[in-house]
Amino acid sequence: MADVIDLANDHADYLLQLALERRQRPASAVSAQFCEDCDEPIPLLRQQTIVGCETCVSCQGLRERRR
Ligand SMILES: [Zn+2]
Repeated sequence: MADVIDLANDHADYLLQLALERRQRPASAVSAQFCEDCDEPIPLLRQQTIVGCETCVSCQGLRERRR
């Protein structure tokens, strides 16, 4: 049961993250295909959803925490 709740929370966090990132990015920016921080490929869905994204989800999380 705890696992299901954790998954739901992760998903909610992810959607919140998307909303926050979308607000921060200029509409004309182009998404990176590979993460700037770890060089992992960024999923196409993320590239399309977050216009101008530069990092994968986990590195973006790290960046947010460093601020
Ligand atoms: Zn990364």
